Amino acid sequence: MSKTGAGNPSRPGSWRQGLQLIEIKSRREVERMRQAGRVVAQVLQEIAERLEPGWTTADIDAYAERRVAELNALPSFKGYYGFPACVCVSINHEVVHGIPSPHKVVQPGDIVKVDLGAMVEGWHADSCITIGLEPLSEAARDLIDTAAQALQVGIAHVRHGVWLQDVSGAIEDYIQGRGYSVVKQYVGHGVGRNLHEEPQFPHYRTPELPNPKLRAGMTLAIEPMVTAGGEATRVLPDRWTVVTVDGSWSAQFEHTILVTESGAEILTDRTPFQS
Ligand code: MG
Ligand code: MG
Repeated sequence: MSKTGAGNPSRPGSWRQGLQLIEIKSRREVERMRQAGRVVAQVLQEIAERLEPGWTTADIDAYAERRVAELNALPSFKGYYGFPACVCVSINHEVVHGIPSPHKVVQPGDIVKVDLGAMVEGWHADSCITIGLEPLSEAARDLIDTAAQALQVGIAHVRHGVWLQDVSGAIEDYIQGRGYSVVKQYVGHGVGRNLHEEPQFPHYRTPELPNPKLRAGMTLAIEPMVTAGGEATRVLPDRWTVVTVDGSWSAQFEHTILVTESGAEILTDRTPFQS
């Protein structure tokens, strides 16, 4: 989910930069986001370990919805702008915002993007993984690896005082350096009390979006979308599912991160849940 919305302009603790209001989260607020992030990470890790050919994308959604509830959180996406499900599931040439369906069965060789948001006491976390189903082509494996590494390259550049688009540019350079394209139609975002808040976070350099300095206490969802072909996308008649125009496959990883004085804390880190 990459559409953006404004934060609360009257809220104290916001960082005003130009026309932007970027919230600086308190320790208490970050702790709630940490809890939400742990739920998202655990559920995504469980799905990554269980998903196999024969599951429908509605099965993925049902699993996520049950586990988010069992872990005492609420799904962030369900009902958001009318989105009907708990996760977005986008397969192969679908880029983002795929609607789960009982008629869509995942197949051997597919690459499956699962994007999940959860909320704890009013605070959101948002993360996405790409799961490759064996037997995976070398091309698909390399595409997934590029998307995963692009996110890591971006996170490695995050630190208090860095220009936002220095991070964006590092992601763009990495993806293009490996011969892939960066999707430009959809961007990352601030996250917190709102699923989407300022700043918008492009995964490429652009003079068309603000370029604030990152400050400790900002929380961001960074989510590069990588395609094996062109960057152009279009929305299907279901009004949600975004696909590549040229039919090329796409991969994405997303983390919710906290900007710190020395770097970034990944609030949706799955490492503790890997079995
Ligand atoms: Mg997401
Ligand atoms: Mg997001």
